[in-house]
Amino acid sequence: MTEPKHAREIKGKGRYYGACGEGCPFGGDLLISVTNAQSVVNKPALPPSAAKVTAETAWELLPQMVATSRQGPNGPNGCDKKRVAERCGTCRFCVTSAMKAEYKAQWESKADLGTAVHAHAHAHVFGQPMPYDERVEPFIDQYLRFLDAWQVDIDRHVEAAETTVIDRKNRYAGTGDIWLQLPTGRAMRRELWLIDIKTSLTKPPTAVYPDQVLQLAGLRFAPSAVLPDDSEIDVPRFAGAALLNLRTNAHALIPLPADRDAHKAFVNAVALQGYFHGLDAKAWTPFDVPALPEPKSRKAA
Ligand SMILES: [Zn+2]
Repeated sequence: MTEPKHAREIKGKGRYYGACGEGCPFGGDLLISVTNAQSVVNKPALPPSAAKVTAETAWELLPQMVATSRQGPNGPNGCDKKRVAERCGTCRFCVTSAMKAEYKAQWESKADLGTAVHAHAHAHVFGQPMPYDERVEPFIDQYLRFLDAWQVDIDRHVEAAETTVIDRKNRYAGTGDIWLQLPTGRAMRRELWLIDIKTSLTKPPTAVYPDQVLQLAGLRFAPSAVLPDDSEIDVPRFAGAALLNLRTNAHALIPLPADRDAHKAFVNAVALQGYFHGLDAKAWTPFDVPALPEPKSRKAA
């Protein structure tokens, strides 16, 4: 997602909202972002996915590995002591560095794709033209199929998109994707849903992770929302919250149990992450042993 209005990156702590001064809905308040709080939760799927990319990259670099296998781990050119721009790029140290860096490059490229899909999806809802983007097109095609299948009339059934919500009592803020009226009620009466869009090139459309429940609960139960003109409204009651998983050839709308219990757990994540951000572990130094007098018993012996 692009940086929402009033959001900022704080070095070493990630995204926060507020501290934007007079006239800003946050005033001097600084509130943690929903995804930042959610990121305190362990994601056990990440290390295996990084290991997979690293192993694949090693196979791709096999000729370079063989060529440098008789070198020491730092190679013959002292690249381990040089700045990245000055490294040779071919020694064993450089080949190892390339292997280690690849998973992050792939994750950043996926994040960029997700950001682009969100931008195009929102532009569609707001009726704004967007330049053609080959990578994004299949995802947007699925988004349109989703809107079509649920007979969504954008003018009548989209309540809000990319709206920032605030929970001052629980000290967080966040920006959700779309508030949508879906025919899930009795006799297909439309009900309001909070929906968050997720994209992936590799995961199945049914992929869900437990921490996503927390994110949806945080967005769902924040009491107020900031409109584009900075005025505030009460967040309406939602029938539920769901993920819209977009893939290049499929999509799935998955309701999650983002209920009051999930919100309570999310608020605990806000507190936990806030606690960690308030710590200064660098200030923790080993105890100096005090200059104690020699014990009497030892003197006697
Ligand atoms: Zn090198």
